Amino acid sequence: MAPVALETPVHTNGASTPVSISKKAHAFDPATQQLPNIDPSKLTIKLNPELAAVPAPEKLTFGTIHTDHMLLLTFSPESGWSAPSIQPYGPMSIDPMASCIQYATNIFEGMKAYMGADGKPRLFRPDLNMARMKRSADKLALPPFDEQALLKLIKKLVLIEKRWIPTAPGCSLYIRPTMFGTRTGFGVTPSTHATLLVILSPSGPYFPGVVRPISLYAESRVRRAWPGGTGGFKLALNYAPTLGPTRDAAKMGYDQILWLFGEDDHLGEVGQMNAFVVLKQDDGSLEVVTPPLDGTILPGVTRHSVLDLTRAHSAESPIPGLPTDLVLHVVERDIPIAELIKYSETGKLAEVFGVGTAAVLVPINRIGYGEEGKEIKIEGGANGFGPIAKAVREELMAIQEARRPNAWSVPCEE
Ligand SMILES: *Cc1c(COP(=O)(O)O)cnc(C)c1O
Repeated sequence: MAPVALETPVHTNGASTPVSISKKAHAFDPATQQLPNIDPSKLTIKLNPELAAVPAPEKLTFGTIHTDHMLLLTFSPESGWSAPSIQPYGPMSIDPMASCIQYATNIFEGMKAYMGADGKPRLFRPDLNMARMKRSADKLALPPFDEQALLKLIKKLVLIEKRWIPTAPGCSLYIRPTMFGTRTGFGVTPSTHATLLVILSPSGPYFPGVVRPISLYAESRVRRAWPGGTGGFKLALNYAPTLGPTRDAAKMGYDQILWLFGEDDHLGEVGQMNAFVVLKQDDGSLEVVTPPLDGTILPGVTRHSVLDLTRAHSAESPIPGLPTDLVLHVVERDIPIAELIKYSETGKLAEVFGVGTAAVLVPINRIGYGEEGKEIKIEGGANGFGPIAKAVREELMAIQEARRPNAWSVPCEE
């Protein structure tokens, strides 16, 4: 396939919403502050003459194939955001001195489109992804953009690729917005030029086979994130350093790492997912705990939604599948690994699970720690699912797949 040229098209219309670039956060010249923002009305669509065959849903894995088209935009300090283009998916040519290659100025998002029973594709709380992407871009001094305009273009792309949205349970069309700096040169300065693209991948379950519980190794020698660091942003550079330690954990027989931080080795994240722990209380109630957003935790859309659902659980708005009189104390607080061990030893560690867009919710069945093959046992339930994990996962999926009407599920419309 022919490489896609990355030169920004000549762009003369300055009438769209201007990009406001704050002088504090960006080293752009103030004269460039009235640049064209992303303008969906300027979209050009070049359809792919060779459409690929859509695989059978049972053949789908996570994130291995792509659809026929992609959305592409470029930013330059001279012309602002280019006219958006939906065009055939294909490789791009990049200058070897580009900022993204030399200094990792890459950010991304992960969202999913689900096919509703009414034949309308739907997104799940996409405003939260757009807001997070904007924060990630700002963190790396990449150009700002109009989130609603980008969302409109994503919906358009999803509609064009509608035939790729799998309808089988647990399957969806994964959406990967990506932005990277294309300024050339070795100076460590903000990337004045950038490319924003959105690609799509029909996906089956993140962890293949039936949803099975995964095992973790609690890592205290290597840190994923730290206060004041970048762990709270979806930057590509957060992931590379986790690959070696995860490979080593796999050699010890564990699927993922339980990231810890601090003198007390408190819980961070579960691989690339937000962590939740369910602790039994003496009065029969349950404490549902997740680490607080202290800069070391990625503010996940799924995390946010699990907190919303569990906090609302009551006789008036129960989570289906849970007793209406079950009292849940939902808290964001640090959980030292020693506390987890203590709860486990007294038979009160009911559940541990990870949540995120890709896998939705995955139960954890054992956590290795230390050198001597010591393990924390978790009560769980059938297939590793305790009652909270099971009910919350089902409720989330019912909302995402629009089987249960909810304002979180946003239809893609023309
Ligand atoms: C993306 C991500 C999550 C999950 O966020 P969602 O918005 O729920 O998909 C959790 N942790 C890390 C490190 C992530 O990158």
